Amino acid sequence: MTENTARKDERPPNIASKPPRKREPLKLAVINQNGCTGCEACIIFCPVDCIEIVPGVDFTQFQQLVEVDIERCIGCALCAKNCPWDTIPMLSYAEGIQKAPELTLRSVCNQKSASDSKTETANA
Ligand code: SF4
Ligand code: SF4
Repeated sequence: MTENTARKDERPPNIASKPPRKREPLKLAVINQNGCTGCEACIIFCPVDCIEIVPGVDFTQFQQLVEVDIERCIGCALCAKNCPWDTIPMLSYAEGIQKAPELTLRSVCNQKSASDSKTETANA
């Protein structure tokens, strides 16, 4: 199994309380937040309720965005098919784990915050 190295800390309580999937999926949905408008259409279609609105405490000047909890996504692609902005690529499991931090820049699942982003930028 490909290890999810994107997560930095413990899962937030609201996400940790949701049931885990039974097996590793072939594909993962990853939100490309560069194209996301925050319309929430994808959230309605997800059968396992694993698309989250990213809290914007540190980013109040920016629009709402969503992210997929890649540890619960079952790869059904319903979100990708129904995103009006075509901004949810379906990636192989290994590629999804790898690309999620790049495409889903604002993330509560990955525990990224404004201060993390500043640190990453400073270290780049
Ligand atoms: S449907 Fe697409 S644009 Fe709308 S919130 Fe989901 S990812 Fe963003
Ligand atoms: S691929 Fe399916 S399970 Fe994964 S986020 Fe999209 S709708 Fe949810």
